Amino acid sequence: MQPFFSKTGIAALREWCRQRPLFALDYDGTLTTLANDPREALLAANIQTLVRRLRQYVPVAILSGRHRPELATLLDGVDVDFMIGNHGLDWGDPTRPELQRAQNLVNGWLEQLQVAPLPTVAPAGWSRRWSGGQVDLPGVWVEDKQYTLTLHYRNVADPDQALAAVTAAVAGLQPAPQVSGGKRVVNLFPDTETNKGSALLRLMAEQGVGRAIFFGDDDTDEAVFRLEHPDILGIRVGWHPDSAARFYLRRQRDMSKALAYSLACLRRFSR
Ligand SMILES: [Mg+2]
Repeated sequence: MQPFFSKTGIAALREWCRQRPLFALDYDGTLTTLANDPREALLAANIQTLVRRLRQYVPVAILSGRHRPELATLLDGVDVDFMIGNHGLDWGDPTRPELQRAQNLVNGWLEQLQVAPLPTVAPAGWSRRWSGGQVDLPGVWVEDKQYTLTLHYRNVADPDQALAAVTAAVAGLQPAPQVSGGKRVVNLFPDTETNKGSALLRLMAEQGVGRAIFFGDDDTDEAVFRLEHPDILGIRVGWHPDSAARFYLRRQRDMSKALAYSLACLRRFSR
């Protein structure tokens, strides 16, 4: 991985911006800082402005692990061209068999995990309207995203112990889910070939977009970086030794600078 703010990084950005790329952006940890309370992961005012301005030049897609309705709430009036949730699964026709099957699997896992509805007064850090609930593991919460599940252990005192407990609980599920880790989360997916990488490729093909720039920060974003696609410029928020991304930003705060540079570049080539 090379720093994005380098000669090579900026040269790559210029090369992409020449061809009006699709901007695909992860949400949590990329456009926003990670929040202990997921309701508080709102877009900062400067990011809202930058995303709005970007859309004057290029199509913008949000490619997130969140449930799509939740994402729409969080975006709070910031329009984007495409919104893809559940790590690539959640878009297009909701009646398609892949989604129906995913929902059935998720319902089965919720039952097996014995997820209890959230108490009337939600514990600190959790929304009452949050879809999901509590499992019999201290401090662990399940986010029901209809087509995938996320088990959060962000607010526990001993994350290693919580992860071990979650891993053990997940190991017994039938049919076995695909499991992916992340930043104090464990994601459960149906056994599908769909991921953020395949979703981005499909979107590019459907929209006839030749090139894309993708920013992401976590394990499921690696599905895009691992494509090592010649037409996708992958930038990871936060350096990681095992990342397949070509470039990285040092921290989430650098996203506003990265979007501002992108905007300047797009303006230059649009003249
Ligand atoms: Mg993220």
